[in-house]
Amino acid sequence: MEIKSAEFIISNTDVNKCPDTSLPEYAFIGRSNVGKSSLINMLANHRKLAKTSSTPGKTLLINHFLINKEWYIVDLPGYGYAKKGKEEREQLRRMISSYILRREQLTNLFVLVDSRHEPQKIDLEFIEWLGENGIPFSIVFTKADKQGIKRLNANIKAYLEVLKEQWEELPPYFATSSLEKTGRTELLDYIESINRSLKENAQNE
Ligand code: GDP
Repeated sequence: MEIKSAEFIISNTDVNKCPDTSLPEYAFIGRSNVGKSSLINMLANHRKLAKTSSTPGKTLLINHFLINKEWYIVDLPGYGYAKKGKEEREQLRRMISSYILRREQLTNLFVLVDSRHEPQKIDLEFIEWLGENGIPFSIVFTKADKQGIKRLNANIKAYLEVLKEQWEELPPYFATSSLEKTGRTELLDYIESINRSLKENAQNE
């Protein structure tokens, strides 16, 4: 898919204030610092579309970006902020879960995990919760360039082994590097293929 346009539409804390649209949404989530903003900017071919972790406040909102006037990238707040207080963490958790459970336009959720790390409890619990609620998701292994290909493949394999303990069927997964633009074509093609089948289904109805 070629990116012809990428526009910021709205940031908010309330699922009811998300854009009134029937366009499909692809949301991105992961622990703070996983590389989410860098990945969104890399996909959209826009250096400053999503604000990086160093921009205070911005990362605590649901951010909508309209792509090619056809679909949305939704940048969800990072989870697992150790530095936030209990109340603020709970508020964030509620905001994230109401978007994920109530937003009908949500077509696929990309769960980002750092390709260098062993599976973290917080991510595995989140993935399990997605499964329990029947949310379609894929895994994105970020920062692939930070290690050699052998190490990367071994880490991904080990991660999938852990997921297999929870899941009969593994979710789609992607290895990406925002620095080297690895995985960009694969992710965009994946989104395009889902968009195409949504359109075909709508035509057949
Ligand atoms: P966010 O908090 O998940 O939005 O993470 P950011 O996109 O702000 O990235 C956190 C840090 O990781 C920044 O210093 C980025 O430059 C770095 N980073 C993000 N993606 C990559 C990547 O693919 N490769 C490398 N080498 N560094 C990355």
